[in-house]
Amino acid sequence: MATAESSLHLLIKFPSCRHSPPSLRSVLSGLYLHDLEPVGVFTGHLLDDPELFRMGNVPTTVKHCLSYEQLLENCPWLRRWLQEEKTIKAHEYPDFVKIVEVGPRDGLQNEKEIVPTGVKIQLIDMLSGTGLSVIEATSFVSSKWVPQMSDHTEVLRGIQRAPNVRYPVLTPNMQGFQDAVAAGATEVAVFGSASETFSRKNINCSVDESMLRFKEVITLAKGQHIPVRGYVSCALGCPHEGHIDPSKVAQVAKSLYEMGCYEISLGDTIGVGTPGSMCEMMQTVMKEVPVSALAVHCHDTYGQALPNILTALQMGVRVVDSAVAGLGGCPYAQGSTGNVSTEDVLYMLHGMGIETGVNLAKVVEAGDFICNFLCRKTNSKVAQASSKTL
Ligand SMILES: [Zn+2]
Repeated sequence: MATAESSLHLLIKFPSCRHSPPSLRSVLSGLYLHDLEPVGVFTGHLLDDPELFRMGNVPTTVKHCLSYEQLLENCPWLRRWLQEEKTIKAHEYPDFVKIVEVGPRDGLQNEKEIVPTGVKIQLIDMLSGTGLSVIEATSFVSSKWVPQMSDHTEVLRGIQRAPNVRYPVLTPNMQGFQDAVAAGATEVAVFGSASETFSRKNINCSVDESMLRFKEVITLAKGQHIPVRGYVSCALGCPHEGHIDPSKVAQVAKSLYEMGCYEISLGDTIGVGTPGSMCEMMQTVMKEVPVSALAVHCHDTYGQALPNILTALQMGVRVVDSAVAGLGGCPYAQGSTGNVSTEDVLYMLHGMGIETGVNLAKVVEAGDFICNFLCRKTNSKVAQASSKTL
């Protein structure tokens, strides 16, 4: 059966591209990507390169001389294809990505060393001057469970709040929420899990029970006009259960969204995901929660964090969690390294022409500060590379 494509008898001729015989698609695609339209589609009598015929990309019999508009008229497949291409191009990458800095909470909470309150405050103040718009400051969990965060009130009261920066804090239950509000929190976050076992071991209750707790917190927060962010941990794997079914992630994300979380951060908290599993998980979650309300939170255990983030961006995600110097880890998962570093994410995004509003050099400075204190090397490749050139 002759398809529309194979019966198309034409060649687009343009002066500077005679070195290789391009296929019709690649020619039109090239023109399209440069916002050029072919002014005319010339017929075969202009052909002087027999090589083009041999490659099979251009039909040998040329019958018509078509304008570009005529070409689109005559070839509905081509119009459809160009429209699809346009859609893909428009959705490919965003112009702006919001970074949620989680180093002072997620990072330091999982560091072995307990960091003095003054150092935490200084770190947050340094980060406030980088252009970041969201810095997760601390966690109002019981100090019995997380001693690293027992100074939450002092931290929240001690920081100098920059006017355009939000400082969410983690509030796992009603007590935590009330303490956070008393300490001046204006935004909070709840932390759910897609893994039943992780939920039981980490917060001592089933996933369903945790949702009931969060519902109380979210309802109360809504009454006080306090925005709530939701986390789903173990989104691409669990230290106890291994594989996690994407539908479980979707279910937890949907519950949090329906309860009123304005944004759901999908966390590969042990860093085992790949672009393959990220894509599958995102596709499933996006059926339940609009992508505009989704963020990704990637750890770099297997070195997959940046490609995983890139995959999520291609799928429409516009919010990325990261930690200065790649702070953190997961005390419950052996060998689990920290969050993807803010420096590396910024370097990648800026290199792609995507704006973040964040000054990379200032984040590197903040990273140096905390790594000096912790007496350890930064996890950021970008910070390592740039310090070598100093
Ligand atoms: Zn994390």
